Amino acid sequence: MKKIKYTGHVSECQICQNKNLKPILSLGHQPVVQEYLTKESLDQPEVTYSLNLVYCDKCGLTQIDYIVPPEIVFPPDYPYRTGLTNMLIRNFRALADTLEKQGYATPKSLIVDIGSNDGTLLQGFKEKGMKVVGVEPTGAADVAKKNGITTIKSFFNKETVATILKKYGPAKIITATNVFAHINDTVSLAKNVKDLLATDGVFVSESQYLLDIFEKLEFDTVYHEHLRFYALQPLQHLFAQVGLSVVDAERISAAGGSIRVYAMKGKHQMSTRAKELLAVEKKAGLYDVKAHKKFAERIILAKHDLVALLLKVKKQGARIAGLGSPARANTLLGFTKITTDILDYACEKKGSPKIGLFTPGTHIPVFEEEKLFKEQPEYVLVLSWHIGMELIKKTKEAGFKGKFIMPLPIPRIIK
Ligand SMILES: [Zn+2]
Repeated sequence: MKKIKYTGHVSECQICQNKNLKPILSLGHQPVVQEYLTKESLDQPEVTYSLNLVYCDKCGLTQIDYIVPPEIVFPPDYPYRTGLTNMLIRNFRALADTLEKQGYATPKSLIVDIGSNDGTLLQGFKEKGMKVVGVEPTGAADVAKKNGITTIKSFFNKETVATILKKYGPAKIITATNVFAHINDTVSLAKNVKDLLATDGVFVSESQYLLDIFEKLEFDTVYHEHLRFYALQPLQHLFAQVGLSVVDAERISAAGGSIRVYAMKGKHQMSTRAKELLAVEKKAGLYDVKAHKKFAERIILAKHDLVALLLKVKKQGARIAGLGSPARANTLLGFTKITTDILDYACEKKGSPKIGLFTPGTHIPVFEEEKLFKEQPEYVLVLSWHIGMELIKKTKEAGFKGKFIMPLPIPRIIK
């Protein structure tokens, strides 16, 4: 088992160490998407890192080729809180139910959640009478503890695993939702998971799914938090290296389309639905470098179309505001170079920690949503377009009278 370099430029595949990575798309140099600026920091130099999508044709992993140190990507004041997003809460409750139904989770089982944030996911298991332990490096760990969720405030590493094993024993279930693609040393991560897992335990990961990213052109999920874009074949490669195997997989709607993968210790057959999914992946070209190039061409075309559309309405004298300011939108704004000469401001729901700050790289001010209803700009650009239709409905109901611009997959106006 060879270790890859943890941070900086990645010259070898993050799973199989292949040195011959194929360049797919360059999104330019971009700042860390959560690094919102204050009025004061606008006057200071801003750090950016290269953001390139590359593909390994040996194991089939799509990945970025620069790893920003985790303490920069996930600072202690990392602004994201799971509890704020209702859609995620619904999914997490459902996960506890699903795992109970499938027989993985039984009362008194130990459940460990990697990157447990404010403990929202574990709450679902705790309610079912299971023992829960969260592992979370950011300030969200303190929120979880306040809510009564046992949490170790640390990154998930060898030491954390040793602590949990000593105090609570092996885990029946280990979950990693939207973090499995974020942690840099992939192979060590998988090994640590294996070491913590009980013989009959299961590792359940949920990650944004490359198939959805391909199908819906969700290239805005490419940012420095997401080091890898998972599909089944590269995960099989990864798990095989440490003595785990994929037993099952399913598509879920979380985060604009995700894959939930179940892995266990030892050698096991994949379920029929997982085998079928692998066949769908192959058919969609996930393991064909030509299909990846085509994907990149579609992204560039979408950029040109979006900018042309925005400039057209801007020339007509229209005001355009951003609806929402999710982290992922900063890749879209940075890549398309949409700044305040096009987008007057972005707005977030009351209580969002981003209000009063400026988007990284593009420096668009973020206001409370109220401004939108008061000023009624002619257009809003739906920055949270992955939940666009739900958001459009809610914004209309709340009293917005203007038109909506959907940026992707095909830039278009919705009245
Ligand atoms: Zn590889």
